[in-house]
Amino acid sequence: MKVLPPRTLPPDKPFQRRHRPPSVGHWASYRSCLRWDFGFSCGFCLLHEADFFHGQPGARTGIMTIEHQTLKSKAPKKANDFENCFFACRLCNRARGTKPREHQGARLLDPTHKAWVDHFELVEDRLRPVPGDIDAEYTRFAYDLDDPEKVSRRRARRELLTDRLLLLARIGEELSALLDLAERLRSLGSPSFKSAWKEIVSLRLQAHRALQVLRLYRAIPDDAPRACRCDPQPELSLPDVLGRQVVDIDETWSL
Ligand SMILES: [Zn+2]
Ligand SMILES: [Zn+2]
Repeated sequence: MKVLPPRTLPPDKPFQRRHRPPSVGHWASYRSCLRWDFGFSCGFCLLHEADFFHGQPGARTGIMTIEHQTLKSKAPKKANDFENCFFACRLCNRARGTKPREHQGARLLDPTHKAWVDHFELVEDRLRPVPGDIDAEYTRFAYDLDDPEKVSRRRARRELLTDRLLLLARIGEELSALLDLAERLRSLGSPSFKSAWKEIVSLRLQAHRALQVLRLYRAIPDDAPRACRCDPQPELSLPDVLGRQVVDIDETWSL
C-alpha cells in the first residue's frame, strides 16, 4: 500500500501535464485528467484530498476544485483551455478569488512551469517563500498558502503518520524476533510457545489498527478515476514529483 509521506515536500520539478484532452471541452470535464496530473493534491498548497476527508468519501464533495489562473471572468475564451486549469483545494481557490495574475510587478507562480522547491521552503508545516522572491510572496499571499486551516491539516497528518509509521516499524522488528523465538520454542516442545504466540497475535492486532489509520492516507484514493477524456489515455500513475515521496508499506504481516 502506498501512503502519503508525513510531510509533502515542495516538488523539485514542475507538475507535468501528462494528460492532453484531445478536444476542447467544458473545463469541468477535465477533472479526472487534472486529478491524476496533480496526484490528487492541490497544486498550490500541496494538501492531498485525504488531508480533508480522512477516508470518508461522503465528506469529499467540493473539497477539490479547478482553478483558472487566467480568470474566467477576465478571459472567458481561456476558461476551457486545459493549460489554464489547475487542480486546487477549495481553500486556495476561494482565497485567490479574483486576485489578478500579476500585481505590482509580481506574478502568480504556475506549478506546471515552476518547481515549488525553487520558491518555497517547508518550515515545520508552513511554506515559506525564498527571501526576496516576490513571485513566491505574491503566490503565497494570493492563495493564502499558510492559512491556519492548511497549517493545522499539515500538522495533523505529520503527527499522525509519523507516529503510526514509527509504531509499525517497531512492531515489524519485534514481530520478526518473536516469530523466530516462537519457532524455536515450538520445535523444543516448550510450553512457553503459547505465550509467545499470544504476544504475536497482540502485535499483529496493533499493526492492524495502525494500518487502518494509514489506509486513510492512501496516495491514490479508492475512487481514483480509471477513465478520462484522453485518447490514448496516459498511464494512470502519480506524478513523479509526488510518487517519489510516498511511503510503501508492507501489509503482509498484519492480521
Ligand atoms: Zn486524461
Ligand atoms: Zn490548496
